[in-house]
Amino acid sequence: MEGLRKIQPYIPGEQVDYQRVIKLNTNEHAYLPSPKIKETLATFDLAKLQRYSSVDNQALCRVIAQNEGLEDEWITTANGSDDILALAFQSFFQTKAPIIFPDITYGFYPVWCELYQIPYQLLPLDDQFQWDFTKIPQAIGGLVLTNPNAPTGKTVSKQAIIDLLERFPEQVIIVDEAYQAFNEESVAPLVSKYPNLYVTRTLSKDHALAGLRVGYGIGSPRLTQVIKAVKNSYNPYAVDALAEAVAITALEDRAYYQKVNQQILHTRSWFSEQLTQLGFNTLESHTNFVLTTHPSHKANILYQQLKEHAIYVRYFDTPRLKDYLRISIGTQQEMEQVTTLLRKLTQKEI
Ligand SMILES: *Cc1c(COP(=O)(O)O)cnc(C)c1O
Repeated sequence: MEGLRKIQPYIPGEQVDYQRVIKLNTNEHAYLPSPKIKETLATFDLAKLQRYSSVDNQALCRVIAQNEGLEDEWITTANGSDDILALAFQSFFQTKAPIIFPDITYGFYPVWCELYQIPYQLLPLDDQFQWDFTKIPQAIGGLVLTNPNAPTGKTVSKQAIIDLLERFPEQVIIVDEAYQAFNEESVAPLVSKYPNLYVTRTLSKDHALAGLRVGYGIGSPRLTQVIKAVKNSYNPYAVDALAEAVAITALEDRAYYQKVNQQILHTRSWFSEQLTQLGFNTLESHTNFVLTTHPSHKANILYQQLKEHAIYVRYFDTPRLKDYLRISIGTQQEMEQVTTLLRKLTQKEI
């Protein structure tokens, strides 16, 4: 047949029956979402499903805007942050010069560049998986920065981002903050000073709502108008009425998320310490996962062995990551089980 598109899609982590395995391969949250969501679902008015959902999700935008200390016209909602990022790529990168992102980052970025025919250039991170911003060429179409980065868990300082925003005032810089609540600092407050900054967030990771599919973008009204126009050119009702109601409940229950996210950070430092004792080298993480490597046990073999014991972690078969495992932080009990097994595997008692 003629006219069929050829494209290499993004390959997500496996979705397996989570009740039968310890699932630590896609950075979903270890704990359930806010218990208040049960009440939201129980009292949800069916008439809201009879009608189309609101085009701009005003109620949800208001809650997000209030959390950020901004007005509603700085916020755009979408069907997960994959959706908001895809929209941002289409909206802000109609450029001839290549957009820049590192060679090790979220695997979806090159896929969107191919899909939307955006020229791009990968900037290799150094041996410590750090950016060297001085290597960014002067003629660029824009920049994408995951902060904290995935799958390394590393952060870039606020000052470094400010320097970039000032160096490239005519280019949009997207900062993907998918793991924001596990990190100390957000650059979202900078949007009112830097009209070229666009920040994306998701409820998937730090709000334990990967199945809900709600993400949002924060940026100047000028950027927001463009991204909304693109969104309304293909899927105006991207966030359904039920998802909007659930997302509002979650975002309003800050006390609950502070508690469970604190628990994750606690387990993360406990688990990182255990890994060190087992001889692993683990990158300092600012997310709900760790990237780790063992000097004498091959990552792909450990990955297989863990899988045989129903523990799923992420292995990237790429030149620079093939020695590493990315392990999401589960509950304390799950991480104790993982530690016990890794102890056996690295001491070859199995
Ligand atoms: C998980 C993830 C996303 C996608 O989040 P969704 O809202 O579930 O689509 C985007 N960026 C990064 C860096 C992620 O890790």
